[in-house]
Amino acid sequence: MNRASRRLLTLLALVAALATAGIAEARIVKVVTSSTDFASIAREIGRDRVQAYSFFHGYQEPEIWVEDVFPSWIVRTSQADALLRIGLSADIWMDTVIEGAQNPRVAPDGAGYVDGSRGISVIEVPAGATDRSLGEIHIQGNPHYLLDPVNAKIVADNILQGLERAAPDDAEFFRKNARDFRARLDAALPRWEQAARGLRGKKLAAYHKTWSYLARRYGLVVVGYCEPKPGIEPSPADVRRLTDTMAREGARLIIHAPVESPRIPEAVAREVQRRAGQPVKVMKLPAHVGGVPEAKDYFALIDYLIATLSESLAGT
Ligand SMILES: [Zn+2]
Repeated sequence: MNRASRRLLTLLALVAALATAGIAEARIVKVVTSSTDFASIAREIGRDRVQAYSFFHGYQEPEIWVEDVFPSWIVRTSQADALLRIGLSADIWMDTVIEGAQNPRVAPDGAGYVDGSRGISVIEVPAGATDRSLGEIHIQGNPHYLLDPVNAKIVADNILQGLERAAPDDAEFFRKNARDFRARLDAALPRWEQAARGLRGKKLAAYHKTWSYLARRYGLVVVGYCEPKPGIEPSPADVRRLTDTMAREGARLIIHAPVESPRIPEAVAREVQRRAGQPVKVMKLPAHVGGVPEAKDYFALIDYLIATLSESLAGT
């Protein structure tokens, strides 16, 4: 065989390999989502048959996104088979993405559209009017529902149904993995209850109302927040109010999500510490999968939150 023929054969083999890869890739269910938590659970259920892409990193916060959407998000969504969103107005920018993508599979009445909040008992639903134009968020209640691990079962069910609709041929495979995910959650829930025993009745403060579901599940008492309302920047008066509350209640820890600056929590902590004569800690906690390197999947996120809070609140 001469050199030209060998090159031709190599080229043909390459073309064949690419064609095979193309066929294999066609079977992959492409998922786009506003949150790493959904991507993590979608991977649990879809394993190697889904490719889940989150528009945000775990240390970011989709609910405070007020910028324009990126064209790359629209391109990805135009090619997606399923779209998973937080709902409850936490990712309203997703409407712009969906509109731009012109992809009926992931439009609100499409097979692959999933609102993760469906079936969740939402807490802190505002009784009065809220004003999104002033920056208020949580306008349909608290959207951080995945920080109660019991809610992960509901979300997994919502995602399973979306994947089944998007790829009916793989439905049995998805159902089997979803059963396995639920079984591992059922095994983890009593373990987390046990690990979180020391948190019951412990007082702390937070930057934003991120932790309400977690606090309710494990009996933590959040005595106050840096933000006067979800999404509203604290004023000096808010800082004084929180300082008074923490000093009065004996709270010795302020937690904040990675996206929130520790500047105000640290100022509050210094003042409470000065008044109380006791150390007051400020701690960054992940609010989503991937928010810190240790929170590599949903189970690791809950493990990390309980372990870190237990350690910081021990002896307070
Ligand atoms: Zn929030």
